[in-house]
Amino acid sequence: MQYEKGVRKLEKRFLVLKFGGSNFKDFECYSEVKRKIGEVEEVFKDKHLVIVVSAAFGTTDKLLHALYNFRDQKVDSIIDEIYEFHLQVLNNRTDGYFESLFERIRELLTVVRILNKVPPFLKDEFLSHGEQINAYTLLKFIEDEDSRFELKDAGEWIITDGKFGNSTVLLEKTKEKIQSEINRWNGVHSIVPGFYGRSVEGDVTLLGRGGSDYTATTLGYSLDAEAVFLFKDVNGFLSCDPKVAESPYIVKSMSYDEADELSYFGAKVLQYNSIEPLRKSSIPLYVCSFDGVFDLNRCTRISDDKHVTESCVKSISYTDDVAVVQFKGRNLGRVPGVLGEISSKIAHGGVNIKFVITSQTSINLIVSKSALSDVLRIAETIRLDDIDEISYKIDKALIALVGHGMLDKHGIAAKVFSVLADNGINVEMISAGSNEVSFYLIIDRKDLEVSLRAIHRSLFENRVFSNIG
Ligand code: ASP
Ligand code: MG
Repeated sequence: MQYEKGVRKLEKRFLVLKFGGSNFKDFECYSEVKRKIGEVEEVFKDKHLVIVVSAAFGTTDKLLHALYNFRDQKVDSIIDEIYEFHLQVLNNRTDGYFESLFERIRELLTVVRILNKVPPFLKDEFLSHGEQINAYTLLKFIEDEDSRFELKDAGEWIITDGKFGNSTVLLEKTKEKIQSEINRWNGVHSIVPGFYGRSVEGDVTLLGRGGSDYTATTLGYSLDAEAVFLFKDVNGFLSCDPKVAESPYIVKSMSYDEADELSYFGAKVLQYNSIEPLRKSSIPLYVCSFDGVFDLNRCTRISDDKHVTESCVKSISYTDDVAVVQFKGRNLGRVPGVLGEISSKIAHGGVNIKFVITSQTSINLIVSKSALSDVLRIAETIRLDDIDEISYKIDKALIALVGHGMLDKHGIAAKVFSVLADNGINVEMISAGSNEVSFYLIIDRKDLEVSLRAIHRSLFENRVFSNIG
């Protein structure tokens, strides 16, 4: 699919644009966002834009802090600070709706003080106000006499499974709802607060941290949009974290699977749930830099294009938020049913296992550090004759190499192992083949930076292009 300035190539009517918290750092940012919207309109004529908005920079954290320190009356000044910031963006032009959002926050804080605890349903409604306030502020900021922008409440349109803090969107129900009232989306540009929806029972529920990405892709799916654009303070997906690797490349194009895998393990570019709605509908996702003039060629395009690059690896991701829980026993890898028993008990305990590596004598569960105590508690209840010992390690890190074709091409793993060996780094575990696009290494946390730099250099050093993929 090619876009040319001013030429409408496809008949689809909607484009979804999402602006994150880092796009709303100070007052000038609101003009930048307005300009960016104008630039997109200029490239794609005759589209209805759907603008998804995160809370302003740091607001969600501030609200969280206020909520959990409700006993301290001083936290009221945090709400005042948020109020002042948005009011200044609005040039002191307040109105009834703006005031009512803040009244509601203060009311909820009062309820928490009366209850002397933070119930989950209240937390979700409270935090959703960061987005609600910012979306309304942006609307007022960009509105003029013949404005075609309209605010929509995410709670009216996005239907969730009702899990507080981290809900999943009921995609088909949401799409049905939106399609049944598509006239309300036609003919206008919409501004929608991200990060929340409403359950069938009517509760506001959050979509997990960073959830505005998920709001954007959900709306893309439900509106059958032409594309979704996420504006970030990074240049799309890079071949490695620029804080670690020397001059990483912008990945020009990757598949849904690759992006999904990268987000799952570490890369903070995309929220973990956000790919699914687009994968279902083959709608392309562009991750674009907020800086500079809008240019599709500088965005990472994520689509169902599964092409293989020369180095196969498109990007390297990592996380040190891993704990390895090891079950040991002679023959453990061979005894049928042990792995099933362990993983189903842990899954029933509500803990997410990132992945599992088995060998003849051990089963290793890789989980997030915050889940470790739960896993150990559950592990204690597993009574199987074949398990001799349960132990854990928390000083580990995981590196994920992601790219189509990697597992078929000889020599990639050998290259990675030899460069690590040259640097004196011990690879403790590997996992390959659990899916088509990724290859994982577990190493000591202390070796992480050196390993990433060495692997990145060995895989990409001979490249002369500034973009890959
Ligand atoms: N404001 C929310 C957060 O900080 C959601 C988002 O930014 O997408 O997690
Ligand atoms: Mg945010």
